[in-house]
Amino acid sequence: MDEIIAAWHLFLQMLRQFSWNDALDIILVSFIIYNAIKLVRETRAGQLVKGIIILLVVWGLATLLKLTMMRTLMVYLFQYALILVMIVFQPEIRRALEQIGRSEFGRKSWLGGGTSEEIYRRNRLCINAVVEAAVQMSKQKTGALMVFEMKTKLGDIIDTGTIINALPSVPLICNIFFNKAPLHDGAMILRDGMVYAAGCILPLTKSDRVAIELGTRHRAAIGMSENSDAVIVVVSEETGQISVVSNGVITRNYTRETLQSELESRLLAESTEEKDEKKQSRFPSFRRGKKQ
Ligand code: ATP
Ligand code: MG
Repeated sequence: MDEIIAAWHLFLQMLRQFSWNDALDIILVSFIIYNAIKLVRETRAGQLVKGIIILLVVWGLATLLKLTMMRTLMVYLFQYALILVMIVFQPEIRRALEQIGRSEFGRKSWLGGGTSEEIYRRNRLCINAVVEAAVQMSKQKTGALMVFEMKTKLGDIIDTGTIINALPSVPLICNIFFNKAPLHDGAMILRDGMVYAAGCILPLTKSDRVAIELGTRHRAAIGMSENSDAVIVVVSEETGQISVVSNGVITRNYTRETLQSELESRLLAESTEEKDEKKQSRFPSFRRGKKQ
């Protein structure tokens, strides 16, 4: 009974000493733990956690049963475990860190460094060219891999290909992927509404959940989307099917209309918001009206 009362007093004392920085501390630690659990659930790290738990059980049993050699082996293993985890889960760790960097107040934009009407129009033209080219290539069964760079800069990927930096057009895109053209192999990168580079090598996904019929082109698209916030359009050479890949998820069988609206909603969302905002600030009374 005395112990319960002592614990209660301790609890009350802690409550009295509780200040705003303790609250901040709890919020930050909860946020980190929440994201760590989310990461573990969404990636291969889940299997790693299971593996670690099994090894911990083995270690416990070895200690309990006084199995000296087994215990020594486990001690060595755990000493180097951190380095091992960093090497094996480098892509996941990189992705998590990039997500933290990107979350930068949730801004999602494909607009490179500006909000002007001109850039907005250029992006729209670029989407139109990609959609039309994808539809044409789909009919002709020409394989294509087109990557819209978003917030994660793809400089290291661009370095593997050839810089073009040209205004997008249907003939240009179809020409790049024409199977006798020198740059048709690999991916095209679209940056700030321009066809920025082609012939780029993307990282392949290591996921074992990808459908068996999907080859390296689709796996490269999935891999790229796992390592960045890029939105990728794939045209299959075998089937002519158009797919969109983002955040490690592939969605297949797009038509001209569905592809157009998918890309517009993903890539022009913010510009539309910004346009609306601009309109609202030009018409403050309208803004007030909306709030009521
Ligand atoms: P398809 O349906 O078009 O046949 P697929 O998913 O079956 O696509 P493959 O048949 O293996 O894939 O496609 C091979 C082509 O994919 C290559 O010629 C190359 O252009 C492209 N490709 C393969 N790997 C990569 C990569 N890592 N980065 C960029 N492009 C790649
Ligand atoms: Mg194939």
